Amino acid sequence: KYEGPSTAEVVSLRRQYMNPGIFAYYKKPLMLVEGNGQYVYDEEGKQYLDTFAGIVTISVGHCHPKVVAAGQKQLETIMHTTTIYYNPEVALLAKELISKMPEGSGLNRVYFTNSGSEANDLAVLMSRMYTGAYDMISLRNGYHGMSEGMRGLTALKNWKFAVPQAFGVHHALNPNRYRGPFGYDDPDSAHKYANDVKDLIDHATPGKIACYIAECIQGVGGTVVLPDGYLKEVYKHVRDAGGLCIADEVQTGFGRTGTHYWGFEGHGVIPDIVVVAKGMGNGTPIAAVITREDVAMTMKTGLHFNTYGGNPVSCAIARAVLKIIDEENIQQNAYERGEQYMEGLLKLQKKYDFIGDVRGKGLMIGLEMVKDRVTKEPAVEETLQVMERCRDMGLLIGRGGLLGNVFRIKPPMCISEADVVFALDVMDRAFGEL
Ligand code: PMP
Repeated sequence: KYEGPSTAEVVSLRRQYMNPGIFAYYKKPLMLVEGNGQYVYDEEGKQYLDTFAGIVTISVGHCHPKVVAAGQKQLETIMHTTTIYYNPEVALLAKELISKMPEGSGLNRVYFTNSGSEANDLAVLMSRMYTGAYDMISLRNGYHGMSEGMRGLTALKNWKFAVPQAFGVHHALNPNRYRGPFGYDDPDSAHKYANDVKDLIDHATPGKIACYIAECIQGVGGTVVLPDGYLKEVYKHVRDAGGLCIADEVQTGFGRTGTHYWGFEGHGVIPDIVVVAKGMGNGTPIAAVITREDVAMTMKTGLHFNTYGGNPVSCAIARAVLKIIDEENIQQNAYERGEQYMEGLLKLQKKYDFIGDVRGKGLMIGLEMVKDRVTKEPAVEETLQVMERCRDMGLLIGRGGLLGNVFRIKPPMCISEADVVFALDVMDRAFGEL
């Protein structure tokens, strides 16, 4: 039984002492005090099925016993050294992470950091060092973090401040086939969106660029799935301009897309740099940049240091996570539960006119709410109402997109068949009340 401060006390503490800009879901504050697998619990012990997973961070389940054991053991052994000394955990994790890269990719060097933002910053630095070029291209509606540099690459007004940020950034058209200029009914959409990148290179840069970065399914932006064939063409344009291709796998990695371990593999491309975070630590802070040796060598001219990057505790935990993903067939479960979810959500779309779009891959799913299927006017209040009702009925869902009208369904990948049935039933009931 939970015996700490009450939700009301914590709300008051946060209001009094913390950043006034932090936001929280739900009208009635929800404090989570315990987690177990795909479930979380509030102070009264009420159970919720967690289909947002700490924003796509809990990969193999809250407090997975093997993750806990690995962390505990390391905490009792040695908590920290920094990379100026040798420690086995970080070196072994590096090897194990590399073993997950596609064969023949040449992606064989790892740098560890603590967050996705730091890792993306490092990826950008590497691309500039390697290419000697400065300009970068990211996608409108993309999210890459909150550091100064990443606020520049991120292209959503909700996450920006009116200050200079990351010079040399160009934002390409978002290949959103639901809302963009080239829709689902345009068989050439991938090619047309890819051409926009080429157009940017030709008109906004000296013709040489440092890098192109993208999520293959936009997370914060509302589960926008890049069209098939798009990345392949874009990567060619970028490489023709001397640039490196960075895959931001912070949300899509570690089997979440179901068909592949990495999201980019589903697009038939090999990036020059891969950035991972979130699910790798199953809730503990660890992130990494993986690149080729020739790219890493250009960084040798200066030191790279990060006090907690690659700390033994986070590394021991990440090693346990990688092992669990294999041992418990997590990727296959992401695939099967993803198919089950999709089928159910598409049925709901037939039933409810305000479900404008259902999209995603594996357990990275989005459902976009509109007031009208023709005008696509976003149904923001309705989205909020459904969210509140789902919470009452024991289901937590994420929300996102520029307009805040997209449900984000990205549960811990250990979710069961019965859980998906429950989630679909609760959503159906909440939609039915609209
Ligand atoms: N890239 C993507 C795709 C993300 O979703 C996020 C976090 N939401 C980041 C980078 C930044 O990660 P962090 O918050 O760990 O800095």
